[in-house]
Amino acid sequence: MTARLDRRLLTSGMGVTVAQLVTLWADHTPARLPVPVICPGCGHPYSEKAPLCPTAAVVRPLLRRRRHEIPGAIDALTTNQLADLTGNRLSTALPAEVTR
Ligand SMILES: [Zn+2]
Repeated sequence: MTARLDRRLLTSGMGVTVAQLVTLWADHTPARLPVPVICPGCGHPYSEKAPLCPTAAVVRPLLRRRRHEIPGAIDALTTNQLADLTGNRLSTALPAEVTR
């Protein structure tokens, strides 16, 4: 299975909403530790070199910039998904370290 961009990202393009970004982030990042070996949304195999699947890699900078547009927009995310979005570390980059 080859990981590719989430269809929702392709169809919404630049008109993507913050709510859509949050949903995509939730679907393409691990909800909790321990981190799975592949993306739950698309099957991308996580590794130190590729800690984000193609969809998460596109969504992350957009959502980091726009998450304040709607108060409470990211409240639905789990603790790990929030940390991966706003923190300096990605749980999927070094799963062994953050799950230890
Ligand atoms: Zn994915």
